[in-house]
Amino acid sequence: MFDELGDLYQQVILDHCKHPRNFHEQGQATCSAQGHNPLCGDQLKLFLTMEGDVVKDASFVGSGCCISKASASLLTESIRGKTRTDVRQMFDRVHDLVMTGEVKGEVGKLAVFAGVHKFPARVKCAILAWHALLAALKGEGHPVTTENDET
Ligand code: ZN
Repeated sequence: MFDELGDLYQQVILDHCKHPRNFHEQGQATCSAQGHNPLCGDQLKLFLTMEGDVVKDASFVGSGCCISKASASLLTESIRGKTRTDVRQMFDRVHDLVMTGEVKGEVGKLAVFAGVHKFPARVKCAILAWHALLAALKGEGHPVTTENDET
């Protein structure tokens, strides 16, 4: 699907980059976490409103490259209505996807990031929002950085 560098920024990614979904703060958020990818300069803050075990609302703010913004945008769309267990499973699938390019299980639109594995420098951009998501769910107050993780 992504045989050339130009294809990395294919239509879905470009669309979410230019018009990020759920791009706002949440005053009523039950948890939030910041993510920082120093290699690229991506910074974002993710907001979650949990209702029991279910993600009722998700949004983000921040700045960064197209991949990081599109990833956060698609993340907020993908996790609504999901349980903590679902989200953890989605993290694992997205992680595999951007590391290997292989789709294991249902990932929906997130499959657009399969091509990222060919560009190791961009893997951290694609996974940043997902690290912030896990941190938010764990209730960790301190910012996460991709530099603390082997991805
Ligand atoms: Zn980036």
